[in-house]
Order: sequence, then C-alpha cells, then structure tokens
Amino acid sequence: MEEFDEGILNNELRDDEQFEIRLRPQRLEEFQGQAPVKDNLKVFVTAARGRQSALDHVFLSGPPGLGKTTLAGILAHEMGAEFKVTSAPALEKPKDLAGLLTSMSEGTLFFIDEIHRLRPAIEEMLYIAMEDYELDWIIGQGPAARNIRIPLPPFTLVGATTKPGKVAGPLYSRFGITVRLELYSEEEIELVLHRSAKLLGIECSEAAVNMLARSARGTPRVANRLLRRVRDFAEVLHDGTIQVSIVEQALQRLLIDSIGLEHHDREILKTIIRNYAGGPVGAETLAISIGESIDTLEDFYEPYLIRSGLLKRTPRGRMVTPRAYTHLGLEPPGTPDNGNEQLLF
Ligand code: ADP
Repeated sequence: MEEFDEGILNNELRDDEQFEIRLRPQRLEEFQGQAPVKDNLKVFVTAARGRQSALDHVFLSGPPGLGKTTLAGILAHEMGAEFKVTSAPALEKPKDLAGLLTSMSEGTLFFIDEIHRLRPAIEEMLYIAMEDYELDWIIGQGPAARNIRIPLPPFTLVGATTKPGKVAGPLYSRFGITVRLELYSEEEIELVLHRSAKLLGIECSEAAVNMLARSARGTPRVANRLLRRVRDFAEVLHDGTIQVSIVEQALQRLLIDSIGLEHHDREILKTIIRNYAGGPVGAETLAISIGESIDTLEDFYEPYLIRSGLLKRTPRGRMVTPRAYTHLGLEPPGTPDNGNEQLLF
C-alpha cells in the first residue's frame, strides 16, 4: 500500500479503505492487545536484526480483520525491510511468482494473503525459494527443456490465512514462526478504539467506548468501522461527540444488538432453529440456506457466534446452544411449554 502515492490512493481506494490505511499501526508498540504475540515477535525481530539476517518465515492465521496484514507491514517496518504484498489468487502462473521473487532485495518481507489458495505449481516453486533461496525455473521446451536454479536474496515470506487447516503440511512446516491471532477481548478492542478516536480527533466518552467495544465482535476492523459509523450519527444528529445515547441510537439503526450480533448473525441462529430444529446441520447446507458462501459463514460469522457461546461446531454439523434461544427471546427445547413456532418469528 505504501507504494501508491497519495493521488492514486485518493482516487482509487474506497473511503473505508483509506480510513483503514490511515489507522493501520506501523510499529509493534502501536499494535494494540495480543501481548504474547507482540512480545514473541519483538524477540524474533531483535534477534534477526542483531544477526543482520532476514527474519524467519512467518505464518499468520486467524479470522479476517484481526491484524494479519497490519502485522506483516509492522514486521517489515521493524526490520527496516522492503514490503511486497500479494495474495495467492493473484498468483496465477509460475511466472507471476517468479517476477516477484526475482525483484526482491535482501531481507524483503514478502506477504502472501490467503496462502491456503496457492496453486500446486506455485506452491512447489515457493518450497524451494523458502528453503534454499533459489528459484527453480524451466527453460526451453520439450526434450530440450532443462531446470536452472537462480539464486534469490534471503527474504522473509509472511503467509496469512483464515483457514490454517487448509494449508498443505509441507508448506506449513517451512514456516519457522507461527502466529495464531484470536478474537480480541473487550478490553483490547477498547484500546484499539481509543487509539483510533485519538488519531481521528473524535471525542468519545469512556462509557461509549465500552459499549462500542462490546459490539465489535472482538475484531479491530469492525471496531474501526463502527466508530466511523457512530461518528456520522454524532456529527449529523448531535454535536459530534460520541456519548452512550448516540452509540445506542446508532446500534439500533444499524440493527446491531447488545452483544454485537448483526441482522445476519441472528438470521443464522434463527435458520438453524426454524429449519433444522436447532441442528446439527452441515455447514454447506447452512450456507446455502442463508445465502452466504461457506467461507463467509466459517470465517466471518462463526468465530464470533462460537465465542459468544451461541453456536457449536460438532462432528455432525452446527448446533445452536440453549443460550441462542434465550438471546433471541425463545424457549430452549426441553423446557416446559416449548413452542418455538409461536414465538417471535
Ligand atoms: P487482516 O489482515 O487480519 O484481515 P488487517 O491487518 O487488514 O486484518 O486489519 C484491519 C484493520 O484493523 C487495520 O486497518 C488496522 O487499522 C486495524 N487493526 C488490526 N489489528 C489492530 C491492532 N492490534 N491494533 C490497532 N489496530 C488494528
């Protein structure tokens, strides 16, 4: 992102993307929460810098919006290294990867998002590049074809994924540093909100930050977006400062409930209850029923529903918990006078 000049940024990036970039921490100490992750990375960065060698390859996993791209950028910054960004679906042909690898300089931090989606030929090429810092390239065609090895400067591959289970074993084993980002606690999200409010010059009461943090699904990206929406309400309907009453009003209008569930989260729970008697129901069937892709269901919606104790993943499929019924104002099954159909839907 840093490679673009301001003009291109202003013209081509959507408003919310510009906003994200503005708020993106550049240094480890600006990265809020996730203390154990930060502490470890600090040690690895300091050690690599001390040895004047490239940082070991880093594998970052966790749901979207938790800071994987941000952390990769921070690592480049902390190492004083060039930062190159791509994503697995953008690497269609071996020459796409070869082009990027051969244009790297010593220590370049090479970020590949959605690393679980690499094509096999590209993955093979990456194995050799990661392990030997060499590019395995075929020249010529037919019987005259031969492999040559082109040396590469030592570099750091940072691979990020929301689906660590889908990354091939041989690829995973080539990463020396693995980091799993979990959903943030409310206190950690409060830190993110305080930082963003300060950077954007937004006045926000402590109680309002508290309420926003409860509604941000443990995800910094959601917290920042929410802050931005609430700022709109505060500016248009009030004097610009964010108070609890504004947050309440904004959340209500955005159909976000007291624990941060959006309309779609509630639809997922209601669909399981209404159509599948509370589950279990297979993820694919559920995704079709709610009109979402299985990736969106698994990566975006489920982690927060699971952490909130409303949904369970079982070997036979997804099930809602008794808490989901109570949250939706329904009688959990097995309680006397159980009659879900006549309630609320
Ligand atoms: P991912 O790559 O995991 O989808 P990003 O790195 O794009 O997530 O993070 C989304 C946004 O959330 C970033 O623009 C950044 O402003 C913010 N963010 C993420 N993690 C943190 C954090 N720990 N502290 C402060 N802001 C964060």
